Amino acid sequence: MTSFVIAIDGPAAAGKGTLARRLARHYGLAFLDTGKLYRAVGLKLLLNNLLASDTLAAERAARSLRPEDLDMPGLRDEAVAEAASVVAAQPAVRAALLDFQKEFARKPPGGAKGAVLDGRDIGTVICPDAQAKLFVHASVEVRAQRRARELQDSGREAIYARVLQDMKDRDERDRSRGIAALKPAPDAFDLDTSDLDADEVFKRALTFIDQRNRAEA
Ligand code: C5P
Repeated sequence: MTSFVIAIDGPAAAGKGTLARRLARHYGLAFLDTGKLYRAVGLKLLLNNLLASDTLAAERAARSLRPEDLDMPGLRDEAVAEAASVVAAQPAVRAALLDFQKEFARKPPGGAKGAVLDGRDIGTVICPDAQAKLFVHASVEVRAQRRARELQDSGREAIYARVLQDMKDRDERDRSRGIAALKPAPDAFDLDTSDLDADEVFKRALTFIDQRNRAEA
């Protein structure tokens, strides 16, 4: 039986993670936040006082990644997000992380009948045959506001102007890199969340996925 895969791509703080988790729960699917893989590689380098631009060290860190690394404290820090986007532009790092992601989608853990993966290149590179693809985005100002609030709520310092600039830099790096650049798959459902709350985003995604399911049945 082929695994039922939902691919969700988009820039940071567009609402992908919340949507992906909700969809996984709703359909009883496994969930993989692929950003954590790149964050874990970035964090390992920072912890060893290495630069994210050190391609050999980054490849080594990616190749030696273990499942427990995805639970390391500090993974959500902004400095780690920045390092993640630098290592994510390196072909050797992406190659090292490819099989794990493909295998997760093909044979989801826990005997689940499928998987939801969220990231930047899921619909275009990792799972081009996914049954449903969604591209979730919002204006950079709205996303920076959301991220600043998230950081403040978790007790961390956040200056809006700084968060906005960091987000613009990271968007630019993710969109312009030569490999697996952030872009919608041609058959992805476009979901602009700038003016939508999480419930409305979930409702629209469900309508699209259920339509796809009916069309395939
Ligand atoms: O989604 P998140 O903000 O955790 O991702 C951190 C960084 O990892 C992104 O800015 C991006 O550079 C990289 N990433 C990627 N491909 C993915 C997921 C994340 O390049 N599938």
